[in-house]
Amino acid sequence: MRICIDAGHGGKDPGAVSDGVQEKNINLKIALKLSTKLIGAGYKIIMTRDDDVFVPLYERARLANKKNADVFVSIHNNAAGNSAAAGTETLYYPGSVQGEKLAGLVQKELIRKLQRADRGIKERKELVVLSSTAMPAVLVECSFLTNPVERKLLQDEGFQLLAAESIVDGIEKYFQEVG
Ligand SMILES: [Zn+2]
Repeated sequence: MRICIDAGHGGKDPGAVSDGVQEKNINLKIALKLSTKLIGAGYKIIMTRDDDVFVPLYERARLANKKNADVFVSIHNNAAGNSAAAGTETLYYPGSVQGEKLAGLVQKELIRKLQRADRGIKERKELVVLSSTAMPAVLVECSFLTNPVERKLLQDEGFQLLAAESIVDGIEKYFQEVG
């Protein structure tokens, strides 16, 4: 099985920035850990970026489609005006039955391991990496960079590893279910 890992943002696009911490860097760290773990579990990996470079959104989806990825996982972290906002959510494309199934399984593992507030799975139709990918796709918002507690956790290698492990377990359960 071939997994496309998409580290959100990069290069000139930092994503959310909070107290000097840039989302693009946290996303990449989690994505690289995810890649290592998935390779260890026997998967083939496609990465939309493995460095701090800008990759346009349609380019990311096109790469996954061209390389025939079986599953697409985009790694992001959240931001909100209210610094109390916290927790984990996983997004998928409306009406994608397989996307919803994958989102549910990944979310469940993230909540179990990261133990942050469960914001659930959510439909998002305007996200290019969900709408333009031909395979089941999810976008994970691990935690909130704007929340001081979660911002600290997100900079911790152990927490990044746990996030990566959760996503691996969710993907494994997904393939067990769909056969
Ligand atoms: Zn983002």
